[in-house]
Amino acid sequence: MYDLIVVGGGPAGLTAAIYAIRKRLNVLLVSKDLGGKTNFRLELPGVEDYQVVRGLEIVGKFRAELEYLDFARHMEPVDRISRHQDGFAVHARRGGGLLAKAVVVASGTTHQRLNVPGEKELLMRGLCYSAISYAPLFIDKTTAVIGDGDLALRSAAELSTVAEHVYVVGPRAGVLESTLGRKLKEAENVTILEGYRVIEILGEDYAERVAVQGPEGQEAEVSADGTFIEMALIPNSDMVAELVDLDTQGRIKVDGRNRTSVPGIFAAGDVTDTYAEQVLVAAGEGAKAALSAYEYLLPTL
Ligand SMILES: Cc1cc2nc3c(=O)[nH]c(=O)nc-3n(C[C@H](O)[C@H](O)[C@H](O)COP(=O)(O)OP(=O)(O)OC[C@H]3O[C@@H](n4cnc5c(N)ncnc54)[C@H](O)[C@@H]3O)c2cc1C
Repeated sequence: MYDLIVVGGGPAGLTAAIYAIRKRLNVLLVSKDLGGKTNFRLELPGVEDYQVVRGLEIVGKFRAELEYLDFARHMEPVDRISRHQDGFAVHARRGGGLLAKAVVVASGTTHQRLNVPGEKELLMRGLCYSAISYAPLFIDKTTAVIGDGDLALRSAAELSTVAEHVYVVGPRAGVLESTLGRKLKEAENVTILEGYRVIEILGEDYAERVAVQGPEGQEAEVSADGTFIEMALIPNSDMVAELVDLDTQGRIKVDGRNRTSVPGIFAAGDVTDTYAEQVLVAAGEGAKAALSAYEYLLPTL
């Protein structure tokens, strides 16, 4: 039986695993990949991205260590986590329960796709997620934000403070009655395409235009230097949905020490209800979760 199993190999999981190794815990990281979302990076023609806070140095260091320590990692998706005697069983997809006294869940979120022509080909080439990360690159440029909820409004509002123009494709009338919605409606550099949907992303090497269709069936094209898909993130929390408390968005509820509602199960990073999807936040939360798990395990060591 392991002392600790960490599920997820993104910034949160990698940091948790390395902290646990430093504490000399018998730890296993179980993940589909190493690096998580840090494996994605927006490319734009002629743009240097030194203004983006990536946090990749620390993630790269921890990742390299886990790549070297092959006994401490197991590359396979996890379907479910259940109670097992005094600890937990982590059920990996190809079978076999991996047993641990404690678990850190750091499985991140899944981004919703548009499922339109051009999206797959141009993703990360002018078409991206995470305006919160990349807004500083769009000073005096034209941008498009696609999404119908609060995340789209938040992203559009941030971009409108730096970009020459922002097109917001798809927000619903109700959402626009919020404080940010009203601000966007009044902003001179924002055009809201209410109720429109995207039908294609167009461009040669990079996304250059967004083809949209209005509620009456009318079609139009919007040109943009950068296009962001900002639809609600889906937390990868299914594996513990029947075990720990989730919030209304499906995120794992944690306290200030990254404890979930079940003693022995900890969680960190984007899969939790902690504020802000950022690499350095996830890494910090991963460190806290590992230290918290260590405190929990100490009487058994
Ligand atoms: C395109 C893009 C660009 C971004 N750019 C930046 C940036 O420049 N700066 C910044 O600070 N933030 C950026 N972010 C946000 C940042 O990447 C995330 O906040 C951060 O990676 C979250 O870390 P995490 O470890 O919580 O989750 P993730 O990085 O999502 O990692 C989750 C891990 O869990 C694994 N996993 C998921 N489900 C399972 C399962 N069932 N079984 C086993 N393993 C599983 C995944 O394979 C992955 O290894 C960006 C996000 C995106 C999408």
